[in-house]
Amino acid sequence: MSSLLFPALLLVGPAVQAFGIAGQYHPYGLTPSTWYQPDSHPVHALFRRASKDDGVAYASVGSPEWSKGFPADPGSMQNMPQAWLDALNKAVAAGKIPDVPVTTTPPGSNPTYPDGYDPMSPDVCSATYQCRIPDDIWDGPDGYLSLSFDDGPLPPSPTLYKFLKQKDQHATHFYIGTNILQHPDCFKMAWDNQDDIAVHTWTHPYMTTKTNEEVLVELGWTMQLIHNSTGGRVPKYWRPPYGDSDMRVRAIAKEVLGLTTVIWNQDTNDWSLSDPVPITSMDNIATQMHTWLTGPKKPGLIILEHELSNQSVQAFIDAWDLVVSNGWKTTSVAQMGGSSAYQNSWNATSPVTQAKVADLSVHPPPAQAVASTT
Ligand SMILES: [Zn+2]
Repeated sequence: MSSLLFPALLLVGPAVQAFGIAGQYHPYGLTPSTWYQPDSHPVHALFRRASKDDGVAYASVGSPEWSKGFPADPGSMQNMPQAWLDALNKAVAAGKIPDVPVTTTPPGSNPTYPDGYDPMSPDVCSATYQCRIPDDIWDGPDGYLSLSFDDGPLPPSPTLYKFLKQKDQHATHFYIGTNILQHPDCFKMAWDNQDDIAVHTWTHPYMTTKTNEEVLVELGWTMQLIHNSTGGRVPKYWRPPYGDSDMRVRAIAKEVLGLTTVIWNQDTNDWSLSDPVPITSMDNIATQMHTWLTGPKKPGLIILEHELSNQSVQAFIDAWDLVVSNGWKTTSVAQMGGSSAYQNSWNATSPVTQAKVADLSVHPPPAQAVASTT
């Protein structure tokens, strides 16, 4: 997978400068009133297939029944549930999905829009070019290090999970759907640790290069597999691979699937550590971590880190003492600010409801999140 992780964000130097002005601190997550269809078409209803909702027991994670029916062809639109397509078409017809053209990716370059489309304009607002909108999450709560890891589950993941458990920490794992299929034991370990499971697409593409329908299946299949593997929980958060999203992609995630987009405010480039020609080093990451973790706590940190290689996992472990010695409070990204980790459940242990998340009153927000509201 590392060979796919090309440096989208390496090429945005000038945009990063501009971002300092555009950047803003904002509340976390979406208010349900911004959803398009929750009352008439609850998001969780899109993922009811082969589940307890239909009176069918969930297949055990890793079993043939569990993996059956998911597309082997990466990103395939074959067998897409009609309900997903109907929800997309309904949102398009209602004018909820901006008509932003798909991008192309010239070799060694960021996704590129056709002439006349400025990636920093409000109509396009590409996260690759560091354009922010208030509904996206870039920053953490003041004083908090919000933990998340991308690209798992993979063989290096258990070392990370053992460390997190040993330190009594919970993280959000932005999982790749096909990696869940291939590494169910790693998935189960994170789930048993009561960590949060979130969406990092089915095949890790640059999402702005994909059509509306392709965006839908990249997110939808990953949500379906997580739903089936977590007792019916519907993920609430997704992180675009390479941070590549725009107004169209965001809208499909939010309006059709209820997903909030999460980016980051510091990047280790740890994905490259296991590459033949890494663009960073363990020493360099240690220096960066020292700068960030001894620096200002407003806004809080969301550091892009990967459970992709033994080195990337070790880079996080090596920095842990600095997290503690500098007094950072910690939370998972999904539960920061008192948010629920799922659209229909607070976390891995609270009940799954048929209500949309804002109606949940079955579980109070985590105590640690209350402290973050000061
Ligand atoms: Zn990734």
